[in-house]
Amino acid sequence: MIPVRGHEGQRISVLGLGRSGLATAKALEAGGATALCWDDSPEAREMAEAEGLTLHDLSRRDAFEGVAALITSPGIPHLYPAPNKHLARAYEEGVPVDNDIGLFFRSFATPEWDNFETTPKVIAVTGSNGKSTTSALIHHLLTEVGRPSQLAGNIGRGVLDIEPAHDGEVVVLELSSYQTDLARALTPDIAVFTNLTPDHLDRHGGLGGYFAAKRRLFAEGGPDRAVIGVDEPEGLYLAGQLAEGPADDRVIRVSVDRKLTGPGWQVYARKGFLSETRKGRQVASIDLRGVKGLPGSHNQQNACAAFAALRCLGLAPRQIEAGLRSFEGLPHRSQLVGERDGVRFVNDSKATNADSAAAALQAFDRIRWIAGGLGKDGGIGALAPHLGHVAKAYLIGHSARAFALQIGDTPHEICETMDRAVARAAEDAQAGETVLLAPAAASFDQYPDFEARGADFTRAVQGILAR
Ligand code: ADP
Repeated sequence: MIPVRGHEGQRISVLGLGRSGLATAKALEAGGATALCWDDSPEAREMAEAEGLTLHDLSRRDAFEGVAALITSPGIPHLYPAPNKHLARAYEEGVPVDNDIGLFFRSFATPEWDNFETTPKVIAVTGSNGKSTTSALIHHLLTEVGRPSQLAGNIGRGVLDIEPAHDGEVVVLELSSYQTDLARALTPDIAVFTNLTPDHLDRHGGLGGYFAAKRRLFAEGGPDRAVIGVDEPEGLYLAGQLAEGPADDRVIRVSVDRKLTGPGWQVYARKGFLSETRKGRQVASIDLRGVKGLPGSHNQQNACAAFAALRCLGLAPRQIEAGLRSFEGLPHRSQLVGERDGVRFVNDSKATNADSAAAALQAFDRIRWIAGGLGKDGGIGALAPHLGHVAKAYLIGHSARAFALQIGDTPHEICETMDRAVARAAEDAQAGETVLLAPAAASFDQYPDFEARGADFTRAVQGILAR
């Protein structure tokens, strides 16, 4: 645990008692503050009480008297579509609002670091897609070269739940836009921006608000190095805004759709090869085509971003290459779950929107595509240009019929359930084809979450492979 500093002797409200809220309350107490916990859900409150935490009803008239700050959780709307009622009152009463990420950045460094040979570092990763994969890949690459590393944030553990840093340790944080928007301190050593596509727009008042939330990670005086995907206008703009000039190597530009030719520092992937150039010269090249855990150009973007972050730490290209080859990928993101007679079965249950499904559909040559669930606003019309690799779609869930109407001439079959879709796709599949779960929809019509959906797919596949 990282004891929170700077709030000693103060009363601090903690709103939202999920995993990160509970960790925050304990870290505040460990740092000498009094954590006053609240959640509108009685079950969450019970859980906090069972863990020995103090409840403090934020709907009471005098709730904010003597409260020095309110720490909130990422699931709670802080501004759009409308601020949560407790946050609105905190704003009204002038109580500062922060989150666990802000507390972390103010508490992480300790006087003990003066005795360290190598100062610990923080790498923070944000972007619309690829955050988890890139963060986990960076963590994996560090671990493979024997550098101590911890992974936290939106992935795995709450940030205040990690251990205080060891000499030379690198903490890798995956940060969502909700987290970067609110944190009152954001000072990573290296910050990574993977890409930007519209998502969560209701929570940010539109695309501009969403981009502004992510951009806070790079605010003036922020990271020593910024690794920026420049394949969308927003990333290109951000890179230009951060750099003093074209050759400023505090900014590392990343692309998977073109060869970058500037005089600065850049990493790009073309035709399956990663290239690093500095001052107009190629300094490294890696063949990514045989890297099994990172299929598709979207994963090449993640590989380039992770490579760049590690180069900022001084790792050699050959060391990084070895680690890329041993990365197995994350569950539910283009995860190979089985193979028989030349047919691969791939679980990308995390493809909950059209953009991430498009990335998965580009990653494989001939696809038996399992899709559907709870469709999102805007439908899947945007997928039309990416259906060329689809031999046939096997549609499930609530949106099955709606999807059937949106995929034009692509052959399809309404299967309703995962079991039927997997069975039908496996029957039809020929050697060289991939049975791909990439739903382009949320899972909540049939499953508690995307993990349960991916697990169900995996179970169905294993059942067929065992026959
Ligand atoms: P995040 O943490 O940002 O949601 P993940 O790594 O969990 O990202 O991947 C989410 C989904 O997006 C998965 O379906 C995955 O296959 C896809 N994806 C991963 N990396 C990228 C990328 N760089 N660009 C587009 N889609 C991606």
